[in-house]
Amino acid sequence: MFDTLGALFLSLLLKKIGICNENSQLNIAKILLKHLLQINMNSIQIIDQKITDITKLENGEYSYRIKLNEESVGIGLYKCMSLVNHSCYNVTKSLFNGSELCLVSNCSFQNGDEITYNYGPHFKQAKKDERQQYLSDLYYFQCQCKACDQNWC
Ligand SMILES: [Zn+2]
Repeated sequence: MFDTLGALFLSLLLKKIGICNENSQLNIAKILLKHLLQINMNSIQIIDQKITDITKLENGEYSYRIKLNEESVGIGLYKCMSLVNHSCYNVTKSLFNGSELCLVSNCSFQNGDEITYNYGPHFKQAKKDERQQYLSDLYYFQCQCKACDQNWC
């Protein structure tokens, strides 16, 4: 709702300063709305963290230390993360080193396994109905992850 109003408001401003006219204003508003929604859907909260002591192990995996401040310092748009689907049963975590984002996991993956990310409440933190409502309100989809399909909590 606020995105729609924001797009209309911005298109009115663009018309007022002569960037668009009465005929093009609606199309400009549609384009603005598309981009505002894309930002909302794909932005990730950047947490103040520091990854230190990154060491490549003999088995090819990495070890590292994380200094967490858990303080939000802004939001960012990351092209690759925009491709990662949500799961309420999530085995990945985003780590930030400055504004650089790394998606890490303690699990092993096989070829063809989907790597997911949790957009909001984990199944251990919220009931299915609450998770579904949150995801529907913010991201406009009905979650069909394993936790939701099998009614975990
Ligand atoms: Zn789910």
